[in-house]
Amino acid sequence: MRFTFVTLFRNIVEGYFSDSILKRAIQNNHISIDFVSPRDFSTNKHKKTDDTAFGGGAGMLMTPQPLYDALDAIKKASPQAHIVFLTPVAKPFVQNDAKRLAKKEHIVFVSGRYEGIDERIVELFADEVFSIGDYILTGGELASMVLCDAISRNVEGVLGNSDSLTEESFNESLLEAPSFTKPQNFHSLTPPKEFLKGNHSKIRSLKFALSITKTKYFRPEQLRKHNSMEKLS
Ligand code: SAM
Repeated sequence: MRFTFVTLFRNIVEGYFSDSILKRAIQNNHISIDFVSPRDFSTNKHKKTDDTAFGGGAGMLMTPQPLYDALDAIKKASPQAHIVFLTPVAKPFVQNDAKRLAKKEHIVFVSGRYEGIDERIVELFADEVFSIGDYILTGGELASMVLCDAISRNVEGVLGNSDSLTEESFNESLLEAPSFTKPQNFHSLTPPKEFLKGNHSKIRSLKFALSITKTKYFRPEQLRKHNSMEKLS
């Protein structure tokens, strides 16, 4: 699966893929990443990519021309490219989106900077828009890395053990049960006794109960979703 980052700051993104699981995913050809800078498409003699907003307001906006030409070139070379804009003015990205988008061939993430992007570019090119939460970041790069990471985990072959995906939080709208590793006794705290015995069906029941408790406490709306899915099944 291919990811293209449309960004003025590729250095911010590149480092994230130089270690660990995503580095291996690139080496093993499960995913590939590339970069397009709107600045390379600017027809301004100083390669400017920002300007003041009509109607005033603080800060600058990304101008439409460089982004239009960059995205037009991407679409011409890769007509199936699925273009995603990162913006606070959108629905939040969730795990089901990560699973669904992992089936695409090519995703393009467009990162805003300054006070954002001229709205006409979003209207002309966006297949989807996503926010990563109710707060304001300085740029879309971090948000696009969040999406790319979450999507990549769902691309076949990226995780060594695909069970990791089904046992994770948000599977069936539940948060994961607490986990423990060695040593058994740590600062006088020990895992629940059932975890230390080999009875897998008892461990599964306890984990399920703990998972319900955690979800009820931290994310009651997810538990309601889980319960209504259970009623339907
Ligand atoms: N003026 C914009 C607003 O109030 O909605 C915020 C612009 S923000 C300083 C600059 C860029 O960061 C945005 O264009 C977007 O790409 C990115 N960004 C900021 N917060 C984000 C969030 N919560 N989710 C996704 N992208 C975000």
